Amino acid sequence: MADLLVVGSVALDSVATPFGKVREVLGGSATYFSYSASFFTRARLVAAVGEDFPKEHTRLLESRGVDTSGLSVVRGRTFRWSGEYGYDLNDARTLDTQLNVFAEFRPTLASEARSVPYLFLANIDPALQLEVLRQMTRRPKLVALDTMNFWIQGKRDALVRVLGEVDVVTINDAEARQLADEANLIKAARAIAALGPRTVVVKRGEYGALLLANGGFFMVPAYPLESVYDPTGAGDTFAGGFMGYLASRDATDGATLRRAMIYGSVMASFTVEDFSLNRLVRLTPAEVSERYAEFEQLMRVEPVE
Ligand code: AMP
Repeated sequence: MADLLVVGSVALDSVATPFGKVREVLGGSATYFSYSASFFTRARLVAAVGEDFPKEHTRLLESRGVDTSGLSVVRGRTFRWSGEYGYDLNDARTLDTQLNVFAEFRPTLASEARSVPYLFLANIDPALQLEVLRQMTRRPKLVALDTMNFWIQGKRDALVRVLGEVDVVTINDAEARQLADEANLIKAARAIAALGPRTVVVKRGEYGALLLANGGFFMVPAYPLESVYDPTGAGDTFAGGFMGYLASRDATDGATLRRAMIYGSVMASFTVEDFSLNRLVRLTPAEVSERYAEFEQLMRVEPVE
C-alpha cells in the first residue's frame, strides 16, 4: 500500500437536480477524491478552506483516516460552487463559482508530502497544480490530473503546460472534446494523450468510462442504477477509486489499470445515489466488493466456441 496525495478544492456546494435541492453542503474535488480513496489506501489532502468551514466536515474526512494536516484554514470564505442538472444528469450547468480563499491560495507541501509516490492533481486552477508538481523532491511513480471547462476556457495555457508533465488525465467527455477541439471522443482521447499524459481516462456519466493506455482502448459500462439523485462528485469519486486502487497495489500495469477502472466506476455509482457525500458516508467495504463482483458479471462474455 502506497501513500496518495491529492491537491484540489474543498467546497460548499449548492446543487439542484430534478430530484431535490441542497444548499452549502460538503463538496469539492479533493473531498470526494480523498473520501473515496480512503477505502483503498492512505490518503492525504492539500487544500484551503475559510474560517466559515464547519469543523464536522474535517472530522468526517478524518474519521476515514484521511490525513487533513495539509488542509489550511485561512482568513476568508470557503470556495463555493453552485450548479444544476436537468433530466439529462450528464450535463452539469454551473450557476456560480466563488473562488474565495482559492483566489489567494498557494499550496505548500509539508516535507513528507514532497516525496509521495502517487499524486492526484484534482480539479483546481492549473497554475496551482503546476506549483504542487514543482514542490515534489522526487518524481512520483504516478501523477494524475483532472480538470474542467472552467479552466479549459480560462487557463488553457497553464493547463497545457501541466498536462505535459503528468502520466494520467481524467476528464469528462464534453471536456475532452472541448480540450482537444475534436468531436470524436476516440480522436479526442488520442489528441489529449499527444499533449503528454500516456494514459487518458474519459468519464462518460451514465455511459461509463473509457481508458486509453499504451495506445489501446478499454471501456467499462456504468453500473445500471435506477435511482440517481445527484451526479455531483461522481468524477472525483471515480478518480479516488481509480487512484486509490493503483496506490493500494503500488502498480500501474495494464491489468491493474483495468481493475482500477472498475473500482472507479463502483465508487462513482454509490456517490450518485444521494446528495453530497451522504451515500459514501453510509458505504461499507463489503458493499464495494459486492458491486465489484456485479461489474464482473455485467462485463462477462464467454469466448466463442
Ligand atoms: P465532479 O466530480 O466533476 O462532479 O466535481 C464536482 C465538484 O467539483 C464539486 O463538489 C465542486 O465543488 C467542485 N468544483 C466545481 N467547480 C470547480 C472549480 N472551478 N475548481 C475546483 N473545483 C470545482
